[in-house]
Formats: sequence, C-alpha cells, structure tokens
Amino acid sequence: MLEVLSVLEKLDVPFGKWTEDIAAIREAKSLAAIVRASWKLGLGVGKEIVEQELWKRAQQPNDWPTCPTCGKKLRSKGMRPRQIETLLGNVSWSRRVGRCPEGCKETQVAPLDQVLEIEPYQQTSWELVQMGCLLAVFLPFETVRIILHQLTGVEISAKSVWNWVQNMGKRAMERLETEINQLAQGNPPTPEEMNETIEKMPLVIGADGVMIPMRPHAGKPDGKTRWREVKVAILSRLGQSVTRAGREFLRLQQRRLVAVFGDTEALRPRLMLEALRQKWQSAPKVIWISDGGKGFWNLYRQCFAQGAIAILDFYHAAQNLWKAAAAAFDGRTTKARQWFESLRHQLRHGQEAQVIAKLAETIEFKGFSDEVRKTLTTVHNYLFTHQSHINYQHYKELGLPLGSGMVESACKWLIQQRFKGVGMHWSEPGFNHLLHLRLAWVNGRFDDLFSPISSPSPNS
Ligand SMILES: [Zn+2]
Repeated sequence: MLEVLSVLEKLDVPFGKWTEDIAAIREAKSLAAIVRASWKLGLGVGKEIVEQELWKRAQQPNDWPTCPTCGKKLRSKGMRPRQIETLLGNVSWSRRVGRCPEGCKETQVAPLDQVLEIEPYQQTSWELVQMGCLLAVFLPFETVRIILHQLTGVEISAKSVWNWVQNMGKRAMERLETEINQLAQGNPPTPEEMNETIEKMPLVIGADGVMIPMRPHAGKPDGKTRWREVKVAILSRLGQSVTRAGREFLRLQQRRLVAVFGDTEALRPRLMLEALRQKWQSAPKVIWISDGGKGFWNLYRQCFAQGAIAILDFYHAAQNLWKAAAAAFDGRTTKARQWFESLRHQLRHGQEAQVIAKLAETIEFKGFSDEVRKTLTTVHNYLFTHQSHINYQHYKELGLPLGSGMVESACKWLIQQRFKGVGMHWSEPGFNHLLHLRLAWVNGRFDDLFSPISSPSPNS
C-alpha cells in the first residue's frame, strides 16, 4: 500500500507548498495534534485538487453562444483569471472569456462559469454560503465566523454571514409568497412524501404567539426595545410509542412549523398551505389544540372545524377555574383551593357540564360584589364557549394530548433558542430572513434553497 504522506511529500518537492504541514504531521505527538495537522494538509490538498480540475476543464474547447443583440457568434478574448472563496479556501484558476466580435455592449461571457453554476460577480461558492447559513440558523453571526475559521481556515466576516442570511432568507420568503399566491389562485402545493405508517397517524395542529424583542427604529440599534408578537403553528403526526417498562406515550412525527411576524390573518394562508402539504384532508383524524387565544380559535373555525377534534389546553382551562375560585373565596385560601380542586377534578374526568353549571349557580349568589360577579361570568362564558373543546375524559380515552405543551416547546425551539439571546434585538427584515431559514431547516427544506438556478448571487 502506498503511504499517502510520502506520496504527497514527493509531489510537493518541486513546489514546497505543504512542506510545513507535512513536517507538522511527522512531528506531532498526540492524536489530537496529528489530526489537526492532517486536517490542515487535507484542506490544502483539497484546494489543489479543485484548482487542477478547474484548470483542466478550462482547457477544453467552448461552445460559444450568439450575441443577444446582433446574433453573431461570440469570440474568445483569451484566458482570464477568476477566484472565489470556498470551503477549501480561496480557489483561483483561469478560463476563456468571450465577447461579441461587433463590440456590442455587455456581452462578455465565461461559458465555464455557467457550467460551474457561478455568476459573474459571485465571490463565495454555494457550499460555503450554505454552511454559513446553516450555522447561523443556530448560532450568532460572530460565532459563525469563528467556527468557520476554526474548521476551514477561511476568513469570512460576521457581516458577510449576515448578508448571506439576508439573501437566502429573502429567497425562502419569496418562494413561500409564490406558493401562497398560487394557492389563492386554486393551485394547491404538492403534498409531502410520507410513509404509510405516518400517513395513518392522526394529525395534530396547534398555534400560539411568542413575543420577540424588536428594534424601535428601522436601521438604528439604539432606543428602547419594543416587543412584538410572532404567530407560530405546528403540524405534526401523532405517533404512539411504548417505553421499555411498557408504558405508552405520545410521540410527534413529521413535525412541521409555520410562523409569521404578523397577526392570525397573516398566519392563515401559511397554515393552510402547510396543512395541504401534510395531507390534512386525508388524515384519519385532525386534532386542533390551543389555549384560549380568540384569534387562533377563529382560525380553527375558518379552516379546520369540519371533522376536526378541538381541544382547549387543560392547563389554561384549569387556570381560569382558579381565577374563579380566587374571586369567589377571596382571602379564604383553603376554601378556594378545595373548591378549585374539586372543579378541576370534575373537568378532567368527564363532568365538564357540571362544572359549567356550578359556575352558573355560583354567579347567582347574592353576596358577591360586581367585580367578583364579573370574573365569575368571564370564566363561565369562557368554558361555555369552549364546552365542546373540554371533554378531557374523552380525549384521554382516544389517546390524545390534553395540553398544548408541544406547541409551546415548538415555539421555544423556533424563537427563544435563537432570537432571545442576551442583548439581542431585531429589525423586522433581519428577523424575518433568519426565521425563514430556521423554518426551512426544521421543515427539511433547507438544502433546496441552495440550488443555484435563477438565484440572487450571495455576494459579500
Ligand atoms: Zn453583438
């Protein structure tokens, strides 16, 4: 077997490009040091391979296109240098550039660039942009710069990473916009591929709002932070799994997220689009789960009410019962707690009608102040409005979740984890662009974004 390092050493003799790197491997003691030195040499060799391959391809004859202005065949003006930043460092080569023989303006082309799918002013190769954007989905821009540098040695500014995210996030938003318009014109999206087992699982849909810190003035980082709400929805198939101890538990499969910086009206077409992708109409069951937010329940009524099972988050329902208890038994905590616990127990175990009746009865008590009566009435009306969404005993029997915890954890992941770091605050476009990259990632559509066809160039 050939010893790779010796071969590289011999190849290196007339050039001396890797002398230091090879020596570093030979001298390294610890495993970590050997790997680190080999990593560095690997990057150098990789870059060499790319440049040689490009030189080779540049020698092959071109098929010249015709001038778009006068129709004459373009003619070679000779070899011109080209360089681009890649995951292997700065790569340079030369390739033929052609022009119109009649001198028509703006006809300069490099056919090899087109074959390589790079654009005239592109400074960064797509695989590097993609890696930078992927890191930025999880990490602050400055951290991305540091990690890229540590891993590959490339020197990219945090500002460049930021620019890539803006360009690619914008592209993700434009694609979504197109799909929403197409849906409005009666062209539904292509449903997502899913295996038969998943297709037979119930589909759970839930929505919630999350606050994010925004800059008070566009373009200016100063001033007091303004908090604005983002609407987040989750669509997921509900699988049953069994622990080793034989206990059944619910497990989300095919988790998809939708989010918008705006109101529930803005969320609606996005949610519908994703529901169609997730084949909601052919799902064996559709379950809507949410807390008391009126906007979200309107959304449910407009979109999914027919044939769906809707569940009011048990925790929120119980919280409201506590409000009633605290109001009715002001100051008498033990009494309030007993009353609350008894009603909560009834609510949980199939006696929601009795709970509503009990509240109605309590309101009639003569000794209450107007304020107490108002609180009790609000809670009563809340549960009465949702009386077909609080049959918790039944939901439990069907193996459904009683709470919107999964919506909340989806929100946490999507929003908190990246957008609510110490000292962070966002401009609306800056937030939107990164949000849509995160969505693309979590929904398994990230790689599709980086196909170079009809793309804006990722210039830094
Ligand atoms: Zn011409």
